Amino acid sequence: MALINEHFLKLQNNYLFSDIAKKVNSFKVTHPKDKIIRMGIGDVTLPVAPAVIEAMHKAVEEMASKETFHGYGPEQGYPFLIDAIIKNDYVSRGIYLEPGEVFISDGAKSDCGNIGDILRHDNSIGVTDPVYPVYIDSNVMSGRAGTIEDGKWSDVVYIPCTEANNFVPDLPSRRVDIIYLCYPNNPTGTTLSKSELKKWVNYALANDCLIMYDSAYEAYIQDPDIPHSIYEIKGAKKVAIEFRSFSKTAGFTGIRCGYTVVPKELNGFTLAGERVSLNKLWNRRQCTKFNGTSYITQRGAEAVYSPEGKEQIQKTIDYYMTNAKIMHESLTACGLKVYGGVNAPYLWIKCPDGLSSWKFFDKLLYEVNIVGTPGVGFGPSGEGYLRLTAFGDRDDTLEAMARLKKWLL
Ligand code: PLP
Repeated sequence: MALINEHFLKLQNNYLFSDIAKKVNSFKVTHPKDKIIRMGIGDVTLPVAPAVIEAMHKAVEEMASKETFHGYGPEQGYPFLIDAIIKNDYVSRGIYLEPGEVFISDGAKSDCGNIGDILRHDNSIGVTDPVYPVYIDSNVMSGRAGTIEDGKWSDVVYIPCTEANNFVPDLPSRRVDIIYLCYPNNPTGTTLSKSELKKWVNYALANDCLIMYDSAYEAYIQDPDIPHSIYEIKGAKKVAIEFRSFSKTAGFTGIRCGYTVVPKELNGFTLAGERVSLNKLWNRRQCTKFNGTSYITQRGAEAVYSPEGKEQIQKTIDYYMTNAKIMHESLTACGLKVYGGVNAPYLWIKCPDGLSSWKFFDKLLYEVNIVGTPGVGFGPSGEGYLRLTAFGDRDDTLEAMARLKKWLL
């Protein structure tokens, strides 16, 4: 008899996106002629940069001949990509990493979810709220979250991020072993300054706390003073793992490639208090459970760092961030309170007139035919907010903003 991991039974069905789809579908049935503009989408919409496509084509050709064929690659990733990452994403910011500290993967979601494999089941967890749901659900699966009561997990410390604290999380009210930070943030689109991030690194150093730092959206940062990596903060290599992704940086949502940095200075502890290298444990975990990201994909990711690749992906990011600017200005002009959207492709809107997230969602859908994402779907502190994304088409973005102006002004 195979016994199951019963923690899986505790998982809440996440109905957010299926509820949205249901509402949109029933609207379409009753209003077949109305044009809906989708601004809830969390996926990119522009094609992959030509430099990446070219590199992938070349890699495919290599697979076709005996002399250049590639079979299994290193589980940790090919040195050509690791070197390009270290040089372009870290050394350029004064951060020095060894090749053995960077692990290439098939994306940040897998790594954020799998990292728990190397950590004991009874660590206490802290999350900022609202939050990218993977951090919580992956901890529910391994029994770290406790039980759910009134929409909150009993063993998770929720750190509210709302307009009351300007979306800057306070240090947790009770000690946590592991804290998840995501900046630029999904869903709020807000960022942390160097001094705010430093507060967290110092907290982690003082409390033997491990920070899981998700910087999947760092490429969207416009302000030169906002940190792109947690390792820009002194001491962070002793306390933080960093997750990065090519998904939003270079349109790899369908190709799949990301990487995780586990510094060699970073330790966890045995119950007896002995220090153990997390880098060694993660390496062992990957070698056992992961057989590497495809050669073709890694050659494509390498091309992101070529001069043409850099220029092309920057153009795409500029396109999305111009959408974000248009949206921010228009929504603000409509009298709405808007957060994010300056260093991130997400805009977090305070629902007007005290409306709930779902009420405002319905009004947007029925009165201006715009689809957003109700903030409450990202956690209790998301109630009363709605997320819009800047990943849409420019003409649709302009039309949506014109509709909103007509509706609200
Ligand atoms: N981290 C955050 C905060 C995200 O919003 C997403 C995707 O939406 C991911 C990670 C997943 O990235 P990937 O496509 O690399 O798995």
